[in-house]
Amino acid sequence: MRVEFYRHNIGDEEKRQILKALDSIFLTTGEYVYEFERELANYLGVKRAIGVMSCTAALHLALLACGVGPGDEVITTPLTFVATPNAILHAGAEPIFVDVEPMTGNIDAALVERAITKRTKAILPVHLYGHMCDMKTLRQIADAHGLAIVEDAAHCLEGSRDGYRPGQLGDFAAFSFYATKSITCGEGGAIVTNSDEQAQLLRKLTLHGMNKSAAERYKGEFSHWDMELLGWKYNMSNVQAALLTPQLRRVDERLLRREQICRRYEEAFEDLAELSFPKVLPGTVSARHLFTIQVDPDLRDSLISRLRAEGIAVTVNYLPCHLMSYYRNRYGYREGNFPVAERIGAMTITLPLYSKLTDEEVEYIIGTVKKLVCSK
Ligand SMILES: *Cc1c(COP(=O)(O)O)cnc(C)c1O
Repeated sequence: MRVEFYRHNIGDEEKRQILKALDSIFLTTGEYVYEFERELANYLGVKRAIGVMSCTAALHLALLACGVGPGDEVITTPLTFVATPNAILHAGAEPIFVDVEPMTGNIDAALVERAITKRTKAILPVHLYGHMCDMKTLRQIADAHGLAIVEDAAHCLEGSRDGYRPGQLGDFAAFSFYATKSITCGEGGAIVTNSDEQAQLLRKLTLHGMNKSAAERYKGEFSHWDMELLGWKYNMSNVQAALLTPQLRRVDERLLRREQICRRYEEAFEDLAELSFPKVLPGTVSARHLFTIQVDPDLRDSLISRLRAEGIAVTVNYLPCHLMSYYRNRYGYREGNFPVAERIGAMTITLPLYSKLTDEEVEYIIGTVKKLVCSK
């Protein structure tokens, strides 16, 4: 059997919608994007959403909207995709890593407080694997020190904690619609916020700092546009949005299937001494983006090879960012700087998890993992 790491859900509805978009005048930012943004904001219970080209772009612009720039520090986790700290560098600031909680792999709020200096401007938590960070505590810390929060919610479109969704306690939350995310248009992202004013600023920043989009210029009387500030070219297109809206409408139905698969994984692996997995804490609805197991670090890489040889595509989320060559060279990081993140990074294997996974495939994965970890 061959089990893919990920398969998307693009089907007839998305194909119909994209053909409709192709028959319209505007392929760039227009009505399809605005419709997607309204539905995304509505789904998350926040005021505004702005579509962009990627989550990396969303993080970059959200940091700029917080006023982050050269000389500032932003506190984040090393146990994430490199996009997270890279966006801090794109904004001209310095990423300050703090270690993570052993149970969840999420940023440790107690360590965040200790890392705050006069230069700290913002906190950038990542809701790892779909399990939300302790946003209530992070919000209290941020308020006590006058800091902004930008949530990296690339894994957490569907999640919540203590009744709060991504974007409700943070100043901004950033989402990804990259190829392997829960809704996807290949490449894409969004920023959400409860501030109308910030949303207006972000909209301009997505399009060179211009005060009108092409679709807005097309309507009504001729009027000149102006460039008010230096922005980027990060605007989402109608083609991307046409693919995303139908998927967004079915996002909770698909989460139910992933929840079912995760419960089956958890039940099957619960009693195995050879492996463990991160826990979903009480009060948390996990977005169930990635299901990871943790094994003996000395066996991890050979286990990956053997799973692949049995036809199961697995990966690692993540080797911590501070140990990437660029960050080592730039900041002098080495092994031992963030031991919990390093330990999780050395033990983790990500198993396939998506709504199209069949029961037969799930049982094959479970059987193969059990056979391999128990035989060493
Ligand atoms: C995928 C991902 C990103 C980057 O998303 P892009 O849309 O590819 O820029 C950022 N952070 C995390 C945690 C991710 O998993």
